[in-house]
Amino acid sequence: MQSLKSEFPIFETARKEGRPLIFLDNASTTQKPQCVIDAVSGFYAGYYANVGRGLYWPATAASFNYDRAREKVRAFIGASSKKEVIFTSGTTDAVNKVVNTFLLPRLEQGDEVLVSEMEHHSNFVPWQQACQSKGAKLKVIPLDAGLNLDLSKFAAMLTDKVKILAITAISNTLGMKNDLKSIINLAHQHNIKVFVDAAQLPLSEKINVQNMDCDFLAFSGHKVFGPTGIGVLYGKQVLLQKMSPLAYGGGMVQQVSVDKTMMADLPAKHEAGTPNIAGTIGLAAAIDFINSVGVEEIGRHGAELRKYAVKRLSEIEGLTLFAKDAKSTAILSFTMEGIHPHDIAAFLAEKGIAVRAGHHCTHPLMQKLDIAGTVRVSFNIYNSEEEVDLLKNTLVEIRSFFL
Ligand code: PMP
Repeated sequence: MQSLKSEFPIFETARKEGRPLIFLDNASTTQKPQCVIDAVSGFYAGYYANVGRGLYWPATAASFNYDRAREKVRAFIGASSKKEVIFTSGTTDAVNKVVNTFLLPRLEQGDEVLVSEMEHHSNFVPWQQACQSKGAKLKVIPLDAGLNLDLSKFAAMLTDKVKILAITAISNTLGMKNDLKSIINLAHQHNIKVFVDAAQLPLSEKINVQNMDCDFLAFSGHKVFGPTGIGVLYGKQVLLQKMSPLAYGGGMVQQVSVDKTMMADLPAKHEAGTPNIAGTIGLAAAIDFINSVGVEEIGRHGAELRKYAVKRLSEIEGLTLFAKDAKSTAILSFTMEGIHPHDIAAFLAEKGIAVRAGHHCTHPLMQKLDIAGTVRVSFNIYNSEEEVDLLKNTLVEIRSFFL
């Protein structure tokens, strides 16, 4: 995996400028390989034009690549048709799309929506606000003592009042992975639709939406080596077809008269206006890159580094690791007795080690743990055991500096 680090120019730039960069904030966003940077700049420099309209070159080349990007995403998540792949600006945008176009028109007073205690605010607040606007109830599936979803409590919450379950694949804060297949299967037994927040999933395991049988799934390009401002909403065709568009405008209509408008077919119906073409082309290059390395390889490397970090950081006195037995993810959180997480992150930053400190957009989870925040490290293909060793040694230094 270390040979892959050279594909990410930021590390070479940082080295040349005499700033070491040990990037352990991959759950927040990932660095970009040269092939993604080249794909985006190649579009702007080589064949820039709008998509779907022009018959001239470079419009045809732009449209071809835009369409190809959708096909790459389809194959990447195992969807049965490109019609089920809606481009969004990210996971947050996708959640809001489903809340506004699927849930709200179907939600009535007294209905319920299920989320879990480990959700990112992006997969929590939109559902909460929707419920409050309709007099419906947001119910939160609790975590058990091991910080995993309490499946028996979850099962008891499945009633015919529930309109949708919105659940994350992996906790972005502590790194637990949910058993989505069983969760979805159980929800479906009660006729409940399931939205999966897959923001942290694509570099952990191969996604197959048909196998998972989720009704909706979303992820962000920037967390999978792609550009910012591009994301994906997958939805089952039958559901996307029934949903009204959230936004109206050009590109999503078939025929417009003074009296009425006939909407375009999927996926265009849910994508009004000029899309983020460069973003989709960058995302396609990111998917090619991921496939060339192998999702399983990437996932294994991240999980092995987490395991190694658990072992090394456990050696530090006064350090508490959260969900330390979580399997197959690359995210690990900890606190250190008597030292504020922000002080730890600032000290690490001085040494060129980039980590995240705080609540990680998961206030309900912090409330459950009764803490203000954690220090979070999250690994990717360009990280190594040597970097974990350096992290450990610096944490030991921090302890003797502050205490
Ligand atoms: N859900 C989870 C689990 C996340 O980790 C994130 C990003 N931290 C989001 C949702 C939101 O993603 P974005 O900001 O790209 O929309």
